Amino acid sequence: MSAQRCPACEKLFLSAQSSAKPFCSERCRQIDLGLWLEERHSVAVRPDEKSEEEITLDF
Ligand SMILES: [Zn+2]
Repeated sequence: MSAQRCPACEKLFLSAQSSAKPFCSERCRQIDLGLWLEERHSVAVRPDEKSEEEITLDF
């Protein structure tokens, strides 16, 4: 048996007991996929409220 670290929740689990490798569970696999998609999205659309406020104050 070998222990493995889940990339989503960073918990150690036995790889033989997981059906969603390299994640500890199907749920973690979904979470990681969601985070990855969210990250990609936030790079393209980046809310920058602070600088917008500063611009308004300068005027
Ligand atoms: Zn996990």
